[in-house]
Amino acid sequence: MLDSRREVRWDYLLPKEFAAAVEECPVCYMPLGTLERHGAHLPFGLDAMKAHGLCLRAAQEYGGVVLPPLHWGTHGWWAEDYRRGDDSRWPADKQPPGSVYIHEGLLINLLLSMFREIEYADFKVCVVLTGHYPTQQVAAVKSAAQQHMVSNPLKVWALCEPELSGEVEVGADHAGKWETSIFWALHPDLVKMERCPDPETGLFTWCSEDALEASPELGERVVQYIAEQLGQGAAKLLEEYEQERDCGE
Ligand SMILES: [Zn+2]
Repeated sequence: MLDSRREVRWDYLLPKEFAAAVEECPVCYMPLGTLERHGAHLPFGLDAMKAHGLCLRAAQEYGGVVLPPLHWGTHGWWAEDYRRGDDSRWPADKQPPGSVYIHEGLLINLLLSMFREIEYADFKVCVVLTGHYPTQQVAAVKSAAQQHMVSNPLKVWALCEPELSGEVEVGADHAGKWETSIFWALHPDLVKMERCPDPETGLFTWCSEDALEASPELGERVVQYIAEQLGQGAAKLLEEYEQERDCGE
């Protein structure tokens, strides 16, 4: 196990330490999310902050460098209409301001540019963890990964954390038991359970009722498990990269 206090954030590293980190473990972590309502008890930035925290834990324990969290994600461009209340099919889904979604094409282009930069920085593996996981976001992220790998050696592993569910359960929800627990373990000061349900309305709006089953202990178990899966998965991809390079020589 590496020193858990060492700096792994790309934006905080100095050139000498950056070069040493890449040399030691050429794995780049890219945490993604969006600004989105997560009930009355959690902050807008939860998705990217959650992914960032999980990536930091993985890199601190298994090596690698972590990009700053990207808070610009997608819900599919059609979401623009319904969340503004302009789509008669989903009038009840109108959202008050505060959530931010970008076009999926813009996200794909941004990721493609980033993969080029990551490859130029000498990374061999990129783990893209999206903490925001509607179908359109996950499809865009996986599509960008596939597009880049068609003609480049960088191994891109694009996933959302519920895909790692196995030995330890990692459920998929929106501000429910799982997301609340994971975020509670990573940012205990930012979880306001006294506001769940929303005290002004008594409702569980933009979150689910099982948020009440969340706990920092469950969160810590899940965080530790996800960090292990990410670190070990990245190490396996690094091995594959080296094997393919050896075969090519
Ligand atoms: Zn979320």
